[in-house]
Amino acid sequence: MSALMPTYAPADLAFEKGEGVYLYTADGRRFLDFCAGIAVNCMGHAHPHLVEALTTQAQKVWHVSNLYTIPGQIELADRLAAASFADRVFFSNSGAEALEGAIKIARKYQKDNGHPERYRVISCENAFHGRTLATIAAAGQAKLLDGFAPVVDGFDQVAFGNLNEMRAAITDETAAILVEPVQGEGGLRAGSGEYLQGLRAVCDEFGLLLMFDEVQCGMGRSGKLFAHEWADVMPDVVATAKGIGGGFPLGAILTTEAAGVLRFGNHGTTYGGNPLAMAVGGAVLDELLKDGFFDHVIAVARTLADALDGLVKKFPTVFVEARGLGLMQGIKLAENVVNRDFKTDLEGEGLLVAPAGDNILRLLPPLIIDDTHVGEAISILETVAARYAQA
Ligand SMILES: *Cc1c(COP(=O)(O)O)cnc(C)c1O
Repeated sequence: MSALMPTYAPADLAFEKGEGVYLYTADGRRFLDFCAGIAVNCMGHAHPHLVEALTTQAQKVWHVSNLYTIPGQIELADRLAAASFADRVFFSNSGAEALEGAIKIARKYQKDNGHPERYRVISCENAFHGRTLATIAAAGQAKLLDGFAPVVDGFDQVAFGNLNEMRAAITDETAAILVEPVQGEGGLRAGSGEYLQGLRAVCDEFGLLLMFDEVQCGMGRSGKLFAHEWADVMPDVVATAKGIGGGFPLGAILTTEAAGVLRFGNHGTTYGGNPLAMAVGGAVLDELLKDGFFDHVIAVARTLADALDGLVKKFPTVFVEARGLGLMQGIKLAENVVNRDFKTDLEGEGLLVAPAGDNILRLLPPLIIDDTHVGEAISILETVAARYAQA
């Protein structure tokens, strides 16, 4: 038995190398990667510009700590701010850490503005915000909390997409609203523009911070840098991670000037924003912000969404619906088809996808895919669906 804690149930697949949108096992089998490390490898595998940035930096200096100035942090923070709603940026190593920081910001913002009694954060049912004590409390899902009582105080949940419930849950102790513009792990649900705008209005009315968790849907996956931009909404705080490092561990908290309440001594991290992470993060942003890149994402996402709709129509006993935004797409499977089994069957045919709640198969391909990759994925989905349709 291995000493490794059995916190995962990995597929019996180990990849030796990756190139573009394909992964290869040591025995030479090739897989089309529509999982992308769960929405992380936005530029695919071994992208030359990312490899060059990482290896060049690796030959200079890896880590110095935040006791010293890290020029890459200043540069990447300024670039992210220039490209988004944000005025301030803090770099973390992961999504959960970015969310932890966001939650601290909500409390400190209210205290600094004369409301220390406002400390609660309202989030949504079926949300996912990470695996730390505060972020599992924020998501509030029983399966995340089981065994880890007492639950960290300060979180309330309401139905995703329901403004009335959100409004009704606000009390004198509410500090902020925390929502994923597109829910990922919990079942691939995209919030409507009206919903996200409604959240902004509610926050303005009650003096709350509007915080978006864009760990999964951010960094170009929706076809804009951040998914909330589709709704034309200005948040106060955004937590992001996954795609921002393209495979190198990196997360970030972005805030407006008013919500930028963290000062010297309030928050910190040893690794966060280290020179390696900044080099790769900068290279990812170079690619994302290239002229026409988001147009490409939007166009190929349309091809994918149309093809998925076609599949649902063709196999109504296997698929219930396709839903999502940009290159964050989900297919809901019929009740008698188990998403994890279907995922394993797809692996047998050379396609990698990720499962999600609500019996969803998530397609989270690298943002660099083109229509031929969509065609290849759809043809494998068809092959497997045909088997289920016959059974
Ligand atoms: C993955 C994810 C997180 C947690 O990120 P980690 O890097 O695993 O800590 C938080 N929120 C959302 C929406 C996510 O998809």
